Amino acid sequence: MTRTTPPRPLDVTAVFPELAMMARSVTRLHPRSGSPTVEDSSVGGPLLWPQDEPWPTCTRSHELYEVVELEAVRASHHISVARWSRPEDEPPTPEERAVFDRSGPKKIDSPYTDPVPLLPVAQLYARDVPGLPCPDGADLLQILWCPFMDHDDDIPAVRVRWRCADQVTAVLSPPPEPAVIELEDYWPAPCVLHPEQVTEYPAVNQLPAAVGARVRAWQEDTGHRYNEFAVAPGWKVGGWGVVPSDERDSADPPRCGCGAVAEPLFTVGLAEWNGHNAGGWRPVEDADADDRRCYPPAGSQTTVDLGDEELQIYRCPESYEHPPVIARVYSTL
Ligand SMILES: [Zn+2]
Ligand SMILES: [Zn+2]
Repeated sequence: MTRTTPPRPLDVTAVFPELAMMARSVTRLHPRSGSPTVEDSSVGGPLLWPQDEPWPTCTRSHELYEVVELEAVRASHHISVARWSRPEDEPPTPEERAVFDRSGPKKIDSPYTDPVPLLPVAQLYARDVPGLPCPDGADLLQILWCPFMDHDDDIPAVRVRWRCADQVTAVLSPPPEPAVIELEDYWPAPCVLHPEQVTEYPAVNQLPAAVGARVRAWQEDTGHRYNEFAVAPGWKVGGWGVVPSDERDSADPPRCGCGAVAEPLFTVGLAEWNGHNAGGWRPVEDADADDRRCYPPAGSQTTVDLGDEELQIYRCPESYEHPPVIARVYSTL
């Protein structure tokens, strides 16, 4: 099924015509619970990874004394999805209850010191994602992260890998995976994607000062929140990237280590549409989805939850060889 974002209930360019020249395309990925294969674009799905290429690991220190078992998290999610179509007041069976209990946090005696195999976060084929940046000859982008976010420097360990799908003749299966992870919220549940290109505009604190001041005054007068209409929520590729807190006056774009202004590549968003849907980002196909009853909720089927933060991955426009720039940003969407 495709996903179709309806027209914004309020066109910000009708109020502020100068925004028209700042319009950027962004591809909303619309992840939905499913069973993707290595041949599919996915979130949390299996990666088309060559058998003879080492699987990436994180070797930073992980000072944690409480973890969850990945296999238990996966089993628990499986049951939750199956229960999705059953009456909401139907109590879990004793067997289901046992699986849910097993997925809870467990104390460990010492910090987790082994190298940690990274988890697949996303795999994007250029054929599926309009506007996907790719080096010459590549047609597949793969993103992985460390399932422990609590590093010394607070920065998540993210690996970005481009490749040419045709060059993968033998696939690594099954890939290594960590026995335990920090939180179940850091395990992206398998989702298929329904990419859709839409338009977005800079967040209020990315605007040139004069326009930004007028937008803030308009917000005061009308009670509207500009970002809700200008910035696409959820998991996406490209666009303007930064959705910083309203409290910050300005948001300078992050820079690569080489000095170049980095470009937004991939955003791990919060929910796929604003809670009260003021910006009207809920796809028409999901109009009847009942967010309260569904598990996973209709608007956040990856089950990834980074608190109130988005994770943004930027790439250097000078070279695909330069490491990605990673930002965790408090989001007001
Ligand atoms: Zn790590
Ligand atoms: Zn660079």
